[in-house]
Amino acid sequence: MSLRFSVLASGSTGNAIYVETDKQRVLIDAGLSGKKMESLFEKNGLDPSTLDALFITHEHSDHIKGAGIFARRYNLPIYANEKTWDAMEPMLGKLTPDQRFHFEVEETKVFGDMDVQSFGVSHDAAEPMFFTFAHEGRKLSVITDTGYVSERMKGLVGDADAYVFESNHDMNMLRMGRYPWSVKRRILSDVGHVSNEDAAHAMADILDANDKPTNIYLAHLSKDNNMKDLANMTVKQTLESRGYQTGKSLKLFDTDPDTPTALTVV
Ligand SMILES: [Zn+2]
Ligand SMILES: [Zn+2]
Repeated sequence: MSLRFSVLASGSTGNAIYVETDKQRVLIDAGLSGKKMESLFEKNGLDPSTLDALFITHEHSDHIKGAGIFARRYNLPIYANEKTWDAMEPMLGKLTPDQRFHFEVEETKVFGDMDVQSFGVSHDAAEPMFFTFAHEGRKLSVITDTGYVSERMKGLVGDADAYVFESNHDMNMLRMGRYPWSVKRRILSDVGHVSNEDAAHAMADILDANDKPTNIYLAHLSKDNNMKDLANMTVKQTLESRGYQTGKSLKLFDTDPDTPTALTVV
């Protein structure tokens, strides 16, 4: 018995995270084309026809691009909050009423043997939210697409065994980069994305000082304003400056826009 997950794809080109127990299989976001989504499942030997539910975090296309297609093809129920439904429904194409379910912010729902809790984030979408997944005392927290990590968010995602945590951009790369100022300002704002350094400080606040084994997957890296090694190094150094040693009980992992992480026990 265990809780397992794979970050199928992560980044502004599309996001999807697979989570399963022995009884439940769910997907958080379907932000790539139907074909691409299927190939990601295939790469990990997973079968999308066995999915029980699709959770949508917010209506940005890198989170919903394949949602309508996938839901129709595999007859999936989609869970999202009311405001997200209103914003994304025109983009999903035709769904039947029995595919439309509500999951409001800060609600906990039970899916078989898995408890799923939603929490709001600060991002320029209708009502963006992310999730924690709990099963038999193990917990996975997923948080990306947020301009900052509030105390409230830290409390809700905390005490997890594994985190999928946004580490979007390197401040200097973003500042010096080719993006127009309006786009830079959006990313840097309270409703944009968190930088490597801010992510690491939030993690340091969240992590318990005890030695509980924790795996952190750095996610939603900007293609233009970040690099895996740089994100990893910045987070590692910042965590070290806050008294956390990485590499032993606290491990950092990469995610990728095209290659799924191995299916891993939380
Ligand atoms: Zn977004
Ligand atoms: Zn996104």
